Amino acid sequence: MESNNKKRVLSGIRATGRLHLGNYLGAVKGMVELQDNPEYETYYMVADAHAITTPYDVKNLEQNRKDVVLDYLAAGLDPKKSVIFIQSQVPAHFELMHYLSSVVTISRMQHLPTFKEKVKQYPEEASMALLNYPILMAADILAYKATDVPVGEDQEPHLEVARLIARKMNDKYGTDFPEPTTFKTAGSYVPSLLGEGKMSKSVEGSYINLTDDLDTIKDRLAKVPTDSGMGTELPKSGSIANLLYFIEIFQGEEKKKEYEASYLGSGIRYRTLKNELAVAIYEHLKPIQERRKEFEGKIDKILEEGSKKANETARNTLAEVRQKMGF
Ligand code: ATP
Ligand code: MG
Repeated sequence: MESNNKKRVLSGIRATGRLHLGNYLGAVKGMVELQDNPEYETYYMVADAHAITTPYDVKNLEQNRKDVVLDYLAAGLDPKKSVIFIQSQVPAHFELMHYLSSVVTISRMQHLPTFKEKVKQYPEEASMALLNYPILMAADILAYKATDVPVGEDQEPHLEVARLIARKMNDKYGTDFPEPTTFKTAGSYVPSLLGEGKMSKSVEGSYINLTDDLDTIKDRLAKVPTDSGMGTELPKSGSIANLLYFIEIFQGEEKKKEYEASYLGSGIRYRTLKNELAVAIYEHLKPIQERRKEFEGKIDKILEEGSKKANETARNTLAEVRQKMGF
């Protein structure tokens, strides 16, 4: 793991629960792809400090951190190739956030779609931490001078803020932050099982976890709202459109076309559709679940090494910023 002249990558997942298909297809697949490309040095964190931007339970935080690390390893992150660490163990992120916050306006933060959505979701608990979330995320990325950020489509507005901050810092203080761009995967927006919005850890009923067994997947799919199974036009959005999306991903385009034809013809039997889809998803997840078991009990050492390396890199950036800003 050399640091010379390699482009850097940073990404993270909030410690708010186990990973789901959206996290996997939208983020982790891209993280693995970049990790396996020798041109990049990859830093992947468990974003535990981001977990407190929405209501959370203190007693679940430690378990959530562990679950994200285990899911990462199970899904293919390799500690020999990537720096895997816990965000809160690298305090430079927080200090950097404060410096970076001086170059963005309050109104820019208030107008972010992600902020407005969360305010709607938790009207009584829209905190300053929530407003600051994208600035902390910019600090996470800029601390490593990352050029590529493998994240889902929902994070694009935050990447725009990170680019704005990089530009302003460079103009005002002569730093050399690259403007980070999203590294997109084919599954950059995985819809919710409920039919509206995206699959999210914090929206019950919206997700399928990577650790779900076949019965759990069947139960979750059983709750997906359905219609009569036929119509004169294919649904463009909502839960039926989303079921067809999952069929395309896990059973292929041909299968999806068959169901579409049934919908316009003799009708879909959702019970059969859901059972077959559940099996296809489970087949996909089985190897990930096997690998997860191999890493149980091994994460402490991985995180200790990851934290050491992440601290080194982030501290160097912080020292530069402090010096350029007159501290
Ligand atoms: P929470 O509800 O707690 O915010 P989340 O499911 O939105 O959880 P995050 O930890 O916020 O997950 O996001 C982790 C990564 O997964 C990010 O890169 C994000 O863009 C990506 N991601 C999250 N949901 C999806 C989705 N439905 N489709 C594609 N990518 C997603
Ligand atoms: Mg999220």
